[in-house]
Amino acid sequence: MTYDAIRVCTRCVMDSTIKAIDFDEDGVCNYCKTYEHRVATELYKEPERSERLYALIRTMKEEGKNKKYDCIIGVSGGVDSSYIAHLVHEFGLRALAVHLDNGWNSELAVKNIQLLLDKLHIDLYTHVIDWVAFKDLQKAFIKSSIENLEIPTDHAITALLLQTADKHGVRYILNGSNLVTEGILPVQGGRSIDDRLLKDIHKKFGTQKLSNYPVMSIWSFAYKVLVKRIKYLPILNYMDYDKEATIRLLEEKYGWKRYGGKHYESIFTRFFQGYLLPMKYGYDKRKAHFSTLIMSGQMSREEALQELTLNPYPSERLLEEDKAFFLKKFDFTEKEFEHIMKQRPKVPSDFNSYERLFETLKPLMLKIKEYAKGN
Ligand SMILES: [Zn+2]
Repeated sequence: MTYDAIRVCTRCVMDSTIKAIDFDEDGVCNYCKTYEHRVATELYKEPERSERLYALIRTMKEEGKNKKYDCIIGVSGGVDSSYIAHLVHEFGLRALAVHLDNGWNSELAVKNIQLLLDKLHIDLYTHVIDWVAFKDLQKAFIKSSIENLEIPTDHAITALLLQTADKHGVRYILNGSNLVTEGILPVQGGRSIDDRLLKDIHKKFGTQKLSNYPVMSIWSFAYKVLVKRIKYLPILNYMDYDKEATIRLLEEKYGWKRYGGKHYESIFTRFFQGYLLPMKYGYDKRKAHFSTLIMSGQMSREEALQELTLNPYPSERLLEEDKAFFLKKFDFTEKEFEHIMKQRPKVPSDFNSYERLFETLKPLMLKIKEYAKGN
């Protein structure tokens, strides 16, 4: 596709390279319209917003009375989850922090987590996935040519959080996902709760047992959400969330250190989003991120268009370093990697997956998602 043939939304920067995009007669895309709809239905206005937040906190404390913890928080070392740790402390909630060590955390991320939780006296449970098994699973995904290479990590985090909550009899998981910085996020190449897809790719391309990798079937997921009523609360949606101000607060209060890019706490994520995704799958994830920032008034469309002309990698040198690190960590030779880059991208329906079921039950799935978020 030549650049001229690419159609860009007149309001955000989503374009015709992105799956399932539609434009209306004014050239406005379905993604920013969905964003607006979500803001209207999922974000509350003051004073209702604060009232709801404080009611939630009261409920968590009430239910946590005879338990060790009121809530579970996932921590990655990134800005959003670090801020959640700060918030639970402010709210006087007793939280158990859960961290997934998948072998890709930067030293800085680990340091940030320790620094923060020590100061806040929050207990930490770290699940270290057996690296041989996880490496094999990630390699299987890379070899399969499916687009969403974060499924192995995202699935494990979701499973781990729900299992930990269940184990401690806690119904509340506070998470850092939020509309104003992540609201536009197209589903590209597979969903992380699709255990059938995960297992099929593992079966076809993997060579090792899954070992202590946390797997959860969608039925178990549905059971925990619908029957056990474990909530996945996007707590940042209950306040004005300004990323830059949050970073400054974390730096000043806890000596937290910044990463210099979204999701740069993991080299895998950086290389995936900055290189593999645009080069092999033709998708530049910054488009979704910037579009969200445009819609939430944190970036202008002109700034975003300007930024998109730059390489997703901050520098050629960092790209070379990351690539070398990536190849070495996975034991890929240059040749193998080149071969993988040339393979045609695959979609979930090329595998044994729940994709058809998800599509058929889309309205129901969205309802369950909303229910899990406490809306
Ligand atoms: Zn748009």
